[in-house]
Amino acid sequence: MSKLLTKHKLIFSEILNRLKKEIGDTNYALSFSSVELVSLENEILIFGVPADFFKETIEKNHLEKIKEIAINSNITEVIVIVSDQKNAADFFSQEEKNDAKEKNSKKSTKTILAKPVTPQHETQEDALNPEFSFTNFVVGSSNSFAHSVATVIAKNPGEAHNPCLIYGNVGLGKTHLLQAIGNYIRHNFTDRKVLFYPSEKFLNAFTFAIANKKSRDFKNKIRNADVLLLDDIQFFSNKPSLQEEFYHSFNTLLLEKKQMVFASDRPIHQIRDLEERLQSRFRSNMIVDLQPPEPEMALGILHNALNKNSITDIDTEVINYIVERLRYNIRDMLGFVSRIVGYQSLTGNIVDLITIKQWAMDYSPKKNNQRRNTVDKILSVIANYYDIAVTELKSKKRNRRISHVRHIAIYLIKELTRCSQTDVGDIFNVTHVSVSKAIVQIDKERDIDPHFADEIEEIKERIYQKGD
Ligand code: ADP
Ligand code: MG
Repeated sequence: MSKLLTKHKLIFSEILNRLKKEIGDTNYALSFSSVELVSLENEILIFGVPADFFKETIEKNHLEKIKEIAINSNITEVIVIVSDQKNAADFFSQEEKNDAKEKNSKKSTKTILAKPVTPQHETQEDALNPEFSFTNFVVGSSNSFAHSVATVIAKNPGEAHNPCLIYGNVGLGKTHLLQAIGNYIRHNFTDRKVLFYPSEKFLNAFTFAIANKKSRDFKNKIRNADVLLLDDIQFFSNKPSLQEEFYHSFNTLLLEKKQMVFASDRPIHQIRDLEERLQSRFRSNMIVDLQPPEPEMALGILHNALNKNSITDIDTEVINYIVERLRYNIRDMLGFVSRIVGYQSLTGNIVDLITIKQWAMDYSPKKNNQRRNTVDKILSVIANYYDIAVTELKSKKRNRRISHVRHIAIYLIKELTRCSQTDVGDIFNVTHVSVSKAIVQIDKERDIDPHFADEIEEIKERIYQKGD
């Protein structure tokens, strides 16, 4: 591990320690039992948690506090993402050492710096998680096409399906497949250079390179890859200089028949502010999608996870309930297994259906709450900005000014939440056709009128700033 990385981890763990003191051990354990440092660069701290549920809880209840603490370390922005937790265990051993440090300060700082390193951690951005392999990937009708394309790519890098775009909702196996390709190539074509980047890290590395006048090095690094795996490209949205740079790298890599695979959690045309030429590149060859697993496949994944944790004594009705309720997000489903493991080892009891049902409330219904919160927040910021009442905004009033503001609200709710057009229509009591018209109209206006575009940005800024 580089010294810089160790230093970043120390800063992060100090922030967590302070947070733990402020919110208490129980609260801390509930939300932060598995966190990892993703990056700390340019005053931006990004850390990862294993599932949406944790991200939402932390954003709602603790993010402001973390920011307050972090500002002391010159960190101006803190972002939580759902990550693959590759470094979480590593981080925890780090944190234990920090506890020791409190007791015996100087000596153990040395211990941390002297901690033995694995080369994988040297370059975090291209670290692959060996757990994400083809062997561990359960195949069913919902993902069999994506799986077979991925295996063909892994066996013939650069020669078949280039570039390939994997598209699917969160928690359905995009990162797993992407990394399975990377792991396979690393094992079977040892001379090929495989780069794996979550796009936010790609952006970070890129920004860092520019700030340190090393953009040429960065470009070379990308262009020298034989296989480039780029995860979560929806993150390219609204980042023109990143798009510009990537566009050129893309062309170079394609010309040289280097394999590229991308993953996105939404269709390319729904990635806002993504240059047309890049859109067409992303979808220029093979597109595969991942759908939620059918029950048999979900059952297979669940059984594997339970077996791996040596949990054999579990009710069929519990299993069936989890499959039925949570199979739409495999990550959440696996998060449930972690909870079961924790519960059973802590209490010695076998988890029953009532408990499971209680836990399940934390997932989907909470998500809906969260969604409502966000919609309410957006509505109130917009109403406030234009000095009208939220009730007017939602009313059928046809006054020109009010209906314009209503269109802006429709537009921003669609952009900032996961609401479908029908969901948005329900909020305003209009059809999805009207929703669609409003979006097109605001989009146009935003394109031709820079003042209006700024206005929208300012409103968005306010929405982000207004916590819950
Ligand atoms: P995404 O990137 O689409 O949000 P991930 O690839 O991170 O989702 O998958 C979420 C979790 O579900 C991971 O732990 C992954 O290993 C697991 N998973 C997803 N699909 C499968 C599958 N087909 N078989 C086994 N595990 C899977
Ligand atoms: Mg992912």
